[in-house]
Amino acid sequence: MPKRTIRDLHDLKGARAFVRVDYNVPLDHGQISDDTRIRASLPTLDELVKGGARLALASHLGRPKKGPVPELSLKPVADRLQDLLGVTVAMAPDCVGPEVRKLAETLRDGEVLLLENVRFHKEEEANDPAFAGRLVADTGATVFVSDAFGSAHRAHASTEGVSHHVRTSVAGLLMEKELRYLGMARDNPAHPYVAVLGGAKVSDKIAVIESLLPKVDALLVGGGMAYTFLRAEGLLTGKSLVEEDKVELARRLLEKAGPKLRLPTDHVVASAFREDAERRTLPVDQIPGDWMGLDIGPATVAAYTEKVRPAKLVFWNGPMGVFEMKPFAEGTLAMARALAGSGGTSIVGGGDSVAAVTQMGLADQIDHVSTGGGASLEFLGGDELPGVACLQDA
Ligand code: ADP
Ligand code: MG
Repeated sequence: MPKRTIRDLHDLKGARAFVRVDYNVPLDHGQISDDTRIRASLPTLDELVKGGARLALASHLGRPKKGPVPELSLKPVADRLQDLLGVTVAMAPDCVGPEVRKLAETLRDGEVLLLENVRFHKEEEANDPAFAGRLVADTGATVFVSDAFGSAHRAHASTEGVSHHVRTSVAGLLMEKELRYLGMARDNPAHPYVAVLGGAKVSDKIAVIESLLPKVDALLVGGGMAYTFLRAEGLLTGKSLVEEDKVELARRLLEKAGPKLRLPTDHVVASAFREDAERRTLPVDQIPGDWMGLDIGPATVAAYTEKVRPAKLVFWNGPMGVFEMKPFAEGTLAMARALAGSGGTSIVGGGDSVAAVTQMGLADQIDHVSTGGGASLEFLGGDELPGVACLQDA
């Protein structure tokens, strides 16, 4: 069901909006090392600022467990946002309370206030209704704008609770884009539809595999999770990553999937989990007893690329190998290139897959690089995300 968005709001001028963004940025000694998430919020904020709305922005940062800690203050984000947005961004000392009330009251049309880390209060993750009510009352908000897809799989006060205290709850433009692409993949995929799944563990991806299987024309498996499947096929896997307690499940999935589910035919094996380890490229039925498979091999790359090329829709989650180490990054790089070069719609979701595509400089050649991480997988797995369900239908 499509959701109302900020484009459906007509009287923005003077409207007070509580905007949930995802500013959970990586910090390195107090410096923002990657501002992708701040940039991703700019289209929504531009539109709201231009319309003359008065904005209170909320986000979490990290996992503070015992109240406020200065290292997890959003202050550096306020400074960076101000540079990027070209509008003064005031920083609040908290996300609720009399100071916030005062700052929110002095906002004029088109002005922006960034609230302090909502997770400084334990009521945030508990989705405490009274706390959600204070977030709304202290900011004077009448509208809730959700642009934090990456947090929408959690029912927290700032992602879901606030919707019960305002009359209008709508999606921001980033949220809208996530729902458009991932919604298409989940509900109305173009065919041939090819999914590429990799990453570390099968156990993280079971729900997605189950939900993808009936919809896709091919499911190409790589990465560490391939080894649990290879073991299920009776192969020796040496010291490769195998989840013993999931081998039986992998066997059932293989049976159910039939020829749709493809496994690597060759791999790059190494004598140790190290960048400078000895390595060889071998067929998957060959591996020295105490070696481990750390990447897909060239024959697998060629076969998978052949499948991806004519696809009308490709969804990729999970690196094909240990791409963090250069000798084992080839398979992941090749799949990123295959998606970038495919004529169909390409979608990449998942924290590490997105990092890989970004590092390789190919992100702008992919139609949709999801900011969602785990949320994109839960969404495709068919779960209704609480932070989406609470928004008004279009
Ligand atoms: P995503 O975040 O995109 O969903 P995951 O978190 O599931 O992906 O997996 C990413 C991790 O999987 C990476 O750190 C990568 O090094 C690891 N990985 C990929 N292939 C292998 C392999 N063959 N053996 C061990 N780890 C692997
Ligand atoms: Mg990950």
